[in-house]
Amino acid sequence: MDRTPEERHRMVEIQIKGRGIFNPRVLEVFKNIPRHRFVPARHVRNAYSDHPIGIACAQTISQPYMVARMTELLDLLGDEKVLEIGTGSGYQTAILASLSRHVTTIERFEELSCQAKRVLADLSIHNVEFIVGDGSVGAPEHAPFDRILITAASPSISEDLVGQMSEEGKMVIPVGSRSSQTLYVVRCAHGKILKEEYDACVFVPLIGRLAWHESES
Ligand code: SAM
Repeated sequence: MDRTPEERHRMVEIQIKGRGIFNPRVLEVFKNIPRHRFVPARHVRNAYSDHPIGIACAQTISQPYMVARMTELLDLLGDEKVLEIGTGSGYQTAILASLSRHVTTIERFEELSCQAKRVLADLSIHNVEFIVGDGSVGAPEHAPFDRILITAASPSISEDLVGQMSEEGKMVIPVGSRSSQTLYVVRCAHGKILKEEYDACVFVPLIGRLAWHESES
């Protein structure tokens, strides 16, 4: 018997709703997207646990609560054009694609991007463009974006990325050191960058031209 709908329901009730996320669209999508499809076979039994899980290329699929928190902060209404930097397993990509019009997602590891693309195709999620490359510079050729989500630790809020947001745009980004960060929501108003500070968090580093250097520790 497939027990995963029950496990997802429990994950939503305890880990997500239980920590104060009540947006019904967000809760619904977390009940529907099969997280166990995005983790390596040896971790399928833990797919709905309350922690990040290792995936290929020494990267991680983020803790379900953190994925939900970032999704809630993005405030998606359904018609947005979204840029995601750090495809990873593709789980967050599937969530974003279910809540918006179109997602462009960038991943530096081809292996992860290809695997995520396969899983989303299997799930009949087709409103996503997958790019392999350095997402620290964004995707200027596809800009502007209504929402930008960075799913890796950034050393700063890059002006290049801010410049790729639409007028009413919003960016969610973890900023800090390589070992600990704070989640920010960034907007622009009257030529000024406005930052709101949210949760403490820990992500793998964003490695790229406008981020950390591969060899930095
Ligand atoms: N949200 C993802 C999920 O649901 O599986 C988890 C993302 S993981 C925490 C961060 C990802 O960012 C990793 O897959 C990593 O390879 C990727 N990454 C790091 N630097 C990058 C860059 N400059 N461009 C694109 N992807 C990058």
